[in-house]
Amino acid sequence: MAKYIKPDRSSWTHDQLEHELENSMKLYRTAMKQYMDDQSTITAQEDIIKRLKEDAERLVESVIAEFRGKDRVPHFECQLCENSFSESLETVTHDADCPITLHTQLMNELGEK
Ligand SMILES: [Zn+2]
Repeated sequence: MAKYIKPDRSSWTHDQLEHELENSMKLYRTAMKQYMDDQSTITAQEDIIKRLKEDAERLVESVIAEFRGKDRVPHFECQLCENSFSESLETVTHDADCPITLHTQLMNELGEK
């Protein structure tokens, strides 16, 4: 990495210094505008991700069906993969290629970033 050598500005004229300051301020304003635009984009994307998660939770609830057998005990099953009957909503399992499994993997991947 190249070592930064501070320029000797002691012999610069007032106009040269002013010109250097203007250029530095332009660079600063451009960088700040880019930073603000990036922050705005990140905030908008975070909002979309939050809404996607909420939407996915609603979808999961809508594809889990409740059945009651002769014993009147409720059982739950995913209507997309019909993997298994479960005795509670929270313990329903899904096939590896079920859209719910794929979505969960995607959300976990997102959580790692
Ligand atoms: Zn499933």
